[in-house]
Amino acid sequence: MKVPRTLLLAASVLALSRADARSDTPAGLLATVEQFDHLTLGNAVLVGSMTVRTGHLECKISGGHAAPVLAGDATVGFFFEGRGEMQYVSADPVEAPVVIFNAKKASSLKPEKTDQGVRLTDKFTRLLWIAQGEPLPALTGTASTPLTASFTAQREMFGRFRSAPLSYDYATQRLDAPAKALVRVEMDGGSDDVIYRRSDLGDGWEGLAILRPTESRDPEMRKFTFQTQISRQPVQRDRRDPPNPRVVLTDVDVDLRASGGTEASMTVVEALVPIGRPLSVLRLNLDSTIYTTFGGNLTKRAERLRKVTDEAGRALEFVHGYDETLIQLAEPAAPERPIKLKFEIDGDFLVSPAGDSYWELGVHDWFPQPSLAGQLYTFHALVRVKKPFVPFAPGKTIRRTTEGDENVLETRVDKPICFAVILAGRYTIYEEVKGGVTIRVATYALDNPRAVKQLANLTGSIIQYYEEFLGPFPLPEFNIIEINDIGWGQAPPGTMFITKEAFNPIMTAHTGQGGSRGVNARFAHEIAHQYWGTVVKMPSLEEQWLTESFADYSAALFMKAYKNEAEYKAIVSEWRGLSSWADADEIPISLANDAAGLNRFDLRYGLLYNKGPALLYALHKELGDEAFFTFLKSYQKSFAWKFGTTKMVAGLLQYMTKKDYMPFFDKYYWGTEMPKN
Ligand SMILES: [Zn+2]
Repeated sequence: MKVPRTLLLAASVLALSRADARSDTPAGLLATVEQFDHLTLGNAVLVGSMTVRTGHLECKISGGHAAPVLAGDATVGFFFEGRGEMQYVSADPVEAPVVIFNAKKASSLKPEKTDQGVRLTDKFTRLLWIAQGEPLPALTGTASTPLTASFTAQREMFGRFRSAPLSYDYATQRLDAPAKALVRVEMDGGSDDVIYRRSDLGDGWEGLAILRPTESRDPEMRKFTFQTQISRQPVQRDRRDPPNPRVVLTDVDVDLRASGGTEASMTVVEALVPIGRPLSVLRLNLDSTIYTTFGGNLTKRAERLRKVTDEAGRALEFVHGYDETLIQLAEPAAPERPIKLKFEIDGDFLVSPAGDSYWELGVHDWFPQPSLAGQLYTFHALVRVKKPFVPFAPGKTIRRTTEGDENVLETRVDKPICFAVILAGRYTIYEEVKGGVTIRVATYALDNPRAVKQLANLTGSIIQYYEEFLGPFPLPEFNIIEINDIGWGQAPPGTMFITKEAFNPIMTAHTGQGGSRGVNARFAHEIAHQYWGTVVKMPSLEEQWLTESFADYSAALFMKAYKNEAEYKAIVSEWRGLSSWADADEIPISLANDAAGLNRFDLRYGLLYNKGPALLYALHKELGDEAFFTFLKSYQKSFAWKFGTTKMVAGLLQYMTKKDYMPFFDKYYWGTEMPKN
């Protein structure tokens, strides 16, 4: 049989109009998700050679069979089986080293440097192309045998990818931004199983990822495939600028009741502000499945969203799964005006690590929240837990009391924060007011008065030191909570989680030289996060050095003042040593988290906790003490309770010194060079 001559030219030539693609009456959220969850195929035809393009992706088909893909009655893409080759170019010079690093370490794709950027190529024998808000190629030709069986196998295979299904993306697009482009291309049969995605729904971006099986032996995890993002480049946006959120969460009011076991129920009332344009469908992160290990086995817990109501009391249509929720508003909400939604949630989501007598609703999405750039909320919590558990929440204590068999806590934070956490456990509290700040030390299970007093004193000294150049301590109360584990700390607003060795009086004598920084430096790092993280926030993980590197540098400054110059010099040389050990010149500090997907946590550690502070050391040396401390102080003041960016760091330095600092950060922060002095 003769294959018809190229009926399919470049996508832009022969195309369905956008109106055709949306010719069905817009269905509601649930119906739309349902349609995209059950895509169907139209009649298959024989196709000759054709090229389809979108963004920086080009797929050259040599020949095979293709069929239109339908969601409900609307054609939303096409499915192809045959022979083809794809080519993708990452044109963003900042991510070039990451693309090469990730492709080499995690895929069989061979990255190639070209004048246009880094090029990745692969062959495919199957391709699914779903595009909305941009034209689709028309499929005409001689009828061929149905592709249904192959399509079913393809959907099953890519459906194992553990992330929100494509229906979440396309339902949001269809109902909230039908004119904006959203493209997804899945390819297999080459050296890797590849997913390309491009979205203009929020800040434009496009990227390429490969799917891989898990390394876990757990049967539950082995059901899924996971992605390694090889490239993710901004479209018509400078990645040095902070992302623009679709909505900003401005107030959170939590009413939580915990059982004595794993069950809890809560009502969360949130104020959300749509940005830029009216909002019809709200997409937020919200845990749905929580995995926990117990006795070496992975167990699954559920957090269930039961009901969402708006301010008028109307129950809204929503979906909740894959740790996300989509909510369809009763009518589009006007931009720049807050809307109020009430979420009713329950489930067995109180997880006690290793069966210890505490649970933590930590820095994950235990209540509905937008991406980092949209988290700027005041916070109110009313927490009820069964005795003898003692609850903790950030902010000023309004009341801490007992009602029947429950311990009750009510707190409030008047300043905009992110990462609010609630924790409860079998704790003993020691409380002291120092310099106007209530320092509360909570020890786990066993009372240790000597260590506790010592830690309260240390905290007082650190706060006093920071107040000299970072401003008044940001919150009226500070909870230091012991965690029954070893070797880590974490610092959400008004809180420090710190593992048990910090409470051991013998170990507190050891301070940070050589491989492990001592308790003093670790405390100083975690307390510094109340400034770097809570007062000045990071708008995305690309700016995480503003929290981690700045906190670590502040801690080193404390060690210099509290101990001596030698202590500080030892920390500086440790930063340098660990930077080179972790190959921290392979990718930029700004993209430290993009190597973590490859389990290269050593590299992330090398970049954010060593090379980043070493860069601040170089800056300090160049500016001298007076200018450097003025810089830290002014930055804290100018960006108090807002998002900071490195671009604004450069701007402030330029204002202070009349020297352009962008080349400095282009070299060491967005580039891969190591600071020399
Ligand atoms: Zn930290």
